Amino acid sequence: MKIVALAGGVGGAKLIDGFAKNLSPLDLTIIVNTGDDFNHLGMRICPDLDTICYTLAGMANPDTGWGRENECWTVLAGIKQLGGPDWFRIGDKDLATHLERSRRLMVGQPLSRIIQDFCKSWNINQKVLPMSDQKVSTIITTLEYGEISFQDYFVRNKCAPTVKRIHFEGIKDATPTPGLIDAIEQADAIVICPSNPWVSIDPILSISGIRTSIIKKPTIAVSPIINGKAIKGPAAKMYSELGIQPSALAVANHYKTIISAIVIDNQDSALSEAISHLGIIPFECNILMKLTEDRVQVSQDVLNYIERILNL
Ligand code: GDP
Repeated sequence: MKIVALAGGVGGAKLIDGFAKNLSPLDLTIIVNTGDDFNHLGMRICPDLDTICYTLAGMANPDTGWGRENECWTVLAGIKQLGGPDWFRIGDKDLATHLERSRRLMVGQPLSRIIQDFCKSWNINQKVLPMSDQKVSTIITTLEYGEISFQDYFVRNKCAPTVKRIHFEGIKDATPTPGLIDAIEQADAIVICPSNPWVSIDPILSISGIRTSIIKKPTIAVSPIINGKAIKGPAAKMYSELGIQPSALAVANHYKTIISAIVIDNQDSALSEAISHLGIIPFECNILMKLTEDRVQVSQDVLNYIERILNL
């Protein structure tokens, strides 16, 4: 079964890791958010792409979910000593990725080509596609600081500011990366990973042509909200601050124009009826992925649910 998955970073990577263990590499394409990308220390940093790639390559830091395992921090310590910015944690091994990517971007190579080559070097056989080769920047309008960039909000300010609005700078001029629309058209189903709907999935869906291609396909989402809470990060806080009660139902509502089904946690079974009323099929199972076994189980459950919707 050919799957195209839409993913952000840490939450998305967990399900992708499961799919990678359950599907042939040729059957899995991952479209990754690049709205979180930013310039820092003279380099271009692409946090979600790196998280997905490090996970697929088996070299992600298992404790944080981002960055590389067995890191050393010599360069960051040196930067700190010089009074430079050390709020964004970059380990020495991770630094190599940013330096080499920035060098290649500077000589005019497209991001998608660079990622394709990195994947080859890291023995990743799945197709990893940045959502666009053009720059898109997620901007958060906050009550306290006005407009700030996503990493300023997420890392430097630890998601504390109150979110009033989210928009994606550069989105109108951004086009899908080569092969992305073809991959959607050839897929049997599209999976929206349990990533932050506002800042990880919406940027992907806002690129011209992506939403309209996905609408034609059987699409299933996995809720990033369990029992009204995000497992990690500001998704639930964002819903509240934008005036919506956070829940798996709110996630279903968020995606209601594009999904035919959603996977919610057993704990949220009381929401199934309201989800059905939206015209969306709710599937219930455990969707908390603490261990590798959970990733494999959740992804297998999602594949079984896809079979069921394909046979309806
Ligand atoms: P980021 O770009 O690194 O913030 O990563 P994502 O947007 O991909 O992931 C953040 C989302 O993943 C949060 O909303 C979390 O609630 C969700 N998440 C993290 N771990 C899990 C999990 O084990 N199960 C589910 N269902 N969601 C998770």
